[in-house]
Amino acid sequence: ARVDNPYEGASLYVNPDWSAAATEGGGSAIADTPTAVWLDSRAAITGGSAGNSTGLREHLDNAVAGGYDAIQIVTYNLPGRDCAALASNGELGPEEIDVYKTEFIDPINEIVSDPAYADLRIINIVEIDSLPNLVTNVGSRETATPECDEMLANGNYVKGVGYNIATLGDNENVYNYIDIGHHGWIGWEDNFQASADLLFEAANAEGATPEDVAGFAANTANYSATVEDNFAIGDTIGGQPIRGESSWIDWNNYVDEQSFAQDFATVAAPAAGFPDGLGVIIDTSRNGWGGADRPTGPGPETSADEYVDGGRYDRRIHLGNWCNQSGAGLGERPTASPAPNIDAYAWIKPPGESDGSSEEIPNDEGKGFDRMCDPTYEGNPRNQNNMSGALPDAPISGHWFQAQFEELMANAHPPL
Ligand code: BGC
Repeated sequence: ARVDNPYEGASLYVNPDWSAAATEGGGSAIADTPTAVWLDSRAAITGGSAGNSTGLREHLDNAVAGGYDAIQIVTYNLPGRDCAALASNGELGPEEIDVYKTEFIDPINEIVSDPAYADLRIINIVEIDSLPNLVTNVGSRETATPECDEMLANGNYVKGVGYNIATLGDNENVYNYIDIGHHGWIGWEDNFQASADLLFEAANAEGATPEDVAGFAANTANYSATVEDNFAIGDTIGGQPIRGESSWIDWNNYVDEQSFAQDFATVAAPAAGFPDGLGVIIDTSRNGWGGADRPTGPGPETSADEYVDGGRYDRRIHLGNWCNQSGAGLGERPTASPAPNIDAYAWIKPPGESDGSSEEIPNDEGKGFDRMCDPTYEGNPRNQNNMSGALPDAPISGHWFQAQFEELMANAHPPL
């Protein structure tokens, strides 16, 4: 039978591929930190994609031999992947749901279901960004893209997620966590319950049942701060709620990941039909925002903007910025059960791996060029036409980006 929280009391597998890259990049102080293994293509299953030279079977063998209790994998190869951005477009076209099932999920399941791994907890972070995109980037919204409209209409994200968790969830040692974006995306009223409802639909698609869901994954590969200590959503300045007055918050219901994740698990998910008490993983690999510019206390109470902007740890230009953010730092080291309904702070995005290239770079991985990764880009409706905040000279997504790795270490919080 499954345990309530697979992170509890568990030693987590250290990915030797990332560990070697981190060591070589000057990060020996953190190279023994557990990070997730990303299965981002069919080739990654056997080992042979950027950042993944080790295949899944070898990782699992290593984990057993090394006496680890748990391994974190990310399954990330849906048809028409990354429909609102270009940087992580994948190898499968929008209609290739059958290829996803038979050439991606089934081969992963064949390995995972080997009895040799029955005692290993396999934590599966499921298809990041996919379902949230079908809530926010579709239809008549200003943020819509034709690609997301297509994936909503053909149902292949919902079917893919359903098939993923149904198939892998047949293994008692697999724990499926479905991605819920982050507070700066799903934290607005219009998006919150709608996302939980769509996740519930996927949790009942293609043979899946809600029992196949161990919990949710927040902030994966994003930069939102775990907890903002210097202001709270209910604060007022001059009698006016900062929620509406601060342009950073802009009517969001949350100011940080932890409050968002807890409400998602305890309010939105049960209202959608999920059982009570599911936990959330918060990706803290790059949301530390330390260094000399980190605020040491609240901002001045002269205006809502000065108060929030002077106090916030997250120093992005806009919450919607997501690519190789300048000024970011490593966040909380992996921790089990850090707060109620939070199963773990975990390092899901391997620090040092790029979010996308700063300019177009031809490649055979299906990766596109998204201008949100170009530091000179002036934005689009999804970041309300702000500058991208991206670092320059980045390689394509998933490839090693040494300058970013160095900045993440320098701005780590807690500091290294
Ligand atoms: C990329 C993947 C990569 C992952 C982890 C994603 O943005 O598209 O190829 O495995 O990041 O670095």
